[in-house]
Amino acid sequence: MDKTAQQSTAWHCLDLETAAARLEARFDDGLREDEVLERRAVHGENRMTPKAGKGPILRLALQFGQPLVLVLLLAGTVTSLLGEWVDAGVIFGVTLINAVIGFIQEGRAENALAALARSIKSEVTVLRGGCKQRLSSTALVPGDVVLLTAGDKVPADLRLFLAKDLRAIEAMLTGESTAVAKHDDVLPEDTSLADRCNMAYAGTVMISGQGAGVVVATGDRTETGRISRLIADTPDLATPLTRRMAVFSNWLLIAIGLLAVLTFAVGLGRGESAFSMFMAAVALAVGAIPEGLPAAMTITLAIGVSRMAKRRAIIRKLPAVETLGSTTVICSDKTGTLTENQMTVRELYAGGLRTTVSGNGYAPGGKIGEGTKIGGALRECLLAGVLCNDAALHKANRHWEVVGDPTEGALLVVARKAGFDEGTLQKLFPRLDGIPFDSTRQYMATLHDIEGVRLAYYKGALEQLLPHSRSMLDADGLAVAVRQKEIELAARSMAEAGLRVLGVARLGVGSAQVLDPSAPEGLEFIGLVGMVDPPRPKAIAAVRTCRAAGIEVKMITGDHAFTALSIARQLGMTNNGETALTGSDLAALDDEGLRAVVRTVNVFARVDPTQKLRLVRALQANGEVVAMTGDGVNDAPALKQADIGIAMGLSGTEVAKDAADMVLTDDDFAAIEAAVEEGRGVYDNLVKFITWTLPTNFGEGLVILAAVLAGTTLPITPLQILWINMTTAVFLGLMLAFEPIERAIMHRPPRPPATPILDAALVWRIVLVSLLLLAGSFGLFLLEMAQGNSLAEARTVAVNVFVVVEAMYLFNCRSLTHSARRVGLFSNPAIWYGVLTMALLQALLTYLPLMNRLFATAPIGGREWLEIFAFGVLAFLVVGIDKRLHAQR
Ligand code: ATP
Repeated sequence: MDKTAQQSTAWHCLDLETAAARLEARFDDGLREDEVLERRAVHGENRMTPKAGKGPILRLALQFGQPLVLVLLLAGTVTSLLGEWVDAGVIFGVTLINAVIGFIQEGRAENALAALARSIKSEVTVLRGGCKQRLSSTALVPGDVVLLTAGDKVPADLRLFLAKDLRAIEAMLTGESTAVAKHDDVLPEDTSLADRCNMAYAGTVMISGQGAGVVVATGDRTETGRISRLIADTPDLATPLTRRMAVFSNWLLIAIGLLAVLTFAVGLGRGESAFSMFMAAVALAVGAIPEGLPAAMTITLAIGVSRMAKRRAIIRKLPAVETLGSTTVICSDKTGTLTENQMTVRELYAGGLRTTVSGNGYAPGGKIGEGTKIGGALRECLLAGVLCNDAALHKANRHWEVVGDPTEGALLVVARKAGFDEGTLQKLFPRLDGIPFDSTRQYMATLHDIEGVRLAYYKGALEQLLPHSRSMLDADGLAVAVRQKEIELAARSMAEAGLRVLGVARLGVGSAQVLDPSAPEGLEFIGLVGMVDPPRPKAIAAVRTCRAAGIEVKMITGDHAFTALSIARQLGMTNNGETALTGSDLAALDDEGLRAVVRTVNVFARVDPTQKLRLVRALQANGEVVAMTGDGVNDAPALKQADIGIAMGLSGTEVAKDAADMVLTDDDFAAIEAAVEEGRGVYDNLVKFITWTLPTNFGEGLVILAAVLAGTTLPITPLQILWINMTTAVFLGLMLAFEPIERAIMHRPPRPPATPILDAALVWRIVLVSLLLLAGSFGLFLLEMAQGNSLAEARTVAVNVFVVVEAMYLFNCRSLTHSARRVGLFSNPAIWYGVLTMALLQALLTYLPLMNRLFATAPIGGREWLEIFAFGVLAFLVVGIDKRLHAQR
């Protein structure tokens, strides 16, 4: 079918046969590979063309809108009106370079973030050639059969041909925020888009049930593609810190303005010319403005984001980079995040008998008990495990793999160990109906005809099945009265050994065609399955690191309390004598009670996803900064509420990923710890840059002010100031963004989010270095003049004092607390490249005639250099002593 026909068809008013015929699709086994290739050639990939963001010209223009830049532009304009063409030219030039750097860096950071966001795979389950496959959603073509479950984002426009309890949120397309129930009936042609309940539209999300549909439109030809409302916005580069710096810059601007006016007035009062006082005011404004700050902050954040990505944590929202550094509590799921999610059945309990199972992983090598006869309740237990199951077991490259839920995969493996073949059994006893597993319901059920009897099989949390069981199967498969205590004891002993326990039961349903979704009554209990899911070794180390860093790690799991506690102990998460609180304990607590409990308890079991939101709120009410993991559709509100919502890249639903600030590519808890560490590092590097850069600006401001007050010529001209600011910011300060994480970073407590960016010690250090710069450059300038050297020479000395002191101070700023020696002289090679480039630039500024002419500098001799470096070393030592004194205090 061609593209236009596909687009104009009203699929909702076609019956299923007609729709299938038009699409040349087969609902029961999907397209063949050759058909897919043919269709891809016609329709292309299933991808929407991204909407163009702000154009480059507008983005560049916005760079000039910053208040600090406006001041520079004003200074440049007035300078040119005064006929100072060279000065005006350089001021404009620098402003332009600054804007271009900001523009490029912002563009890069935005692109990097957007690329990372795209790297989060969006997969769909597709039926092709009779096989269920997980594929990238871009691989879909019209006619493909897509299977949907709760939490899926619809990958293309689908005509549904199966919908079981399927409900979708379509707000992004129709604006309707309540969920819409889906079905597969034919609808009248004039049905509006919002009421086409037999369709599922690209970009909308399924929040419950199961369904299947055939792709009718892909990419830009989907309804969403046509109105292109869903295209990802450009990522927001503002973070709390950049916002605080913007506020700070505005205050700085006012202060600079006042000082400039003061300078002007004092000078005039003294009888200086208006022109020279204006130049002084310009010098002051130009000097005191930290031009490089915004770009440096963006670059540091962008470097942090890419470092986190290397450690398998993808940042979706930039502010998360900073918040991570303040995290005080990490609430983590157990299964798959703290544990491997590699389930192996270790024990079975059926008909009152316990049996162990040997073998490891998904390879079906291993035995059930020694000489155990597979019959009666045990056989039924294994059969139920195979039939009430959506997973598949494959051997790929001599490796056994599970497609689907590992818990269910383990049930297929144990059945194979008993000699069962799931394919044969599933064909022999096909599924007539099913209730999918869901973390709130905590069980799954399927309906089958077994040798003439219609039976529903249930598997799930024991608490959901045992209370509803009236009888149980004995070892010979005969029904006897249920022995509740005995079953509970068996389950408890498995759970205490850290096993995940599933109950299995069945129900005779007469001739019912469908399963009753309400809680089952009168079940016949079959048995228990206990499976191991070992803690991830890296998670054990990561939990230890977090605790040393003053971060509490809390386990919030849907699993049983004893299993959870046992795993938590193995992970070193528990305090002495700790017990686990369960979802029902939580439900009984009021908000006050919950706030008290979350202070001390680290293990929360049998928690319903909706309770996670309450837990996050209680922790936040206690002043905690909370990172929370989640993977299911019900986790989305908690992920949004948490300070850092973390979704699982492999096992997470699309809904959870959309709600999250960060996505873990391998689902491993260790990546969270790594991200926290990087987050702390980024923040440190930002503070280091600020501490390094402000003294230059303040120092320059002070020099100008002092010169005006003392009535001397300016020791540095506005142009020279611009030179210093621009070159040192790029070649010296920016190198701090590459500073490796300090070793002790995870031995410090988290930084409270409200603490000021600079503490008293750093403010003092900035003042100290500003004063040192004033003393050095003004002092040596006066000395040069007193010795009868030219003004250009004296100014060149003053400029070089600034650069040399800043270069030396850079080594002091590599750690704000430790000495430069302890940091290791060569641990950040970027610093050395920067310093060498800077040395070259200063040599050019001092000795190249063209530069001499442009910047009013002049060559200086060895004695001058000696003085400059002597002062640089002195400043370096003074700051070193200050650091040491502070550390001792
Ligand atoms: P976490 O919340 O840490 O990821 P979890 O995977 O144990 O832990 P849920 O997926 O909510 O949490 O599972 C809760 C309970 O539901 C499990 O303890 C188990 O008894 C039962 N269960 C889990 N998976 C299935 C399944 N596929 N079919 C039936 N019951 C299941």
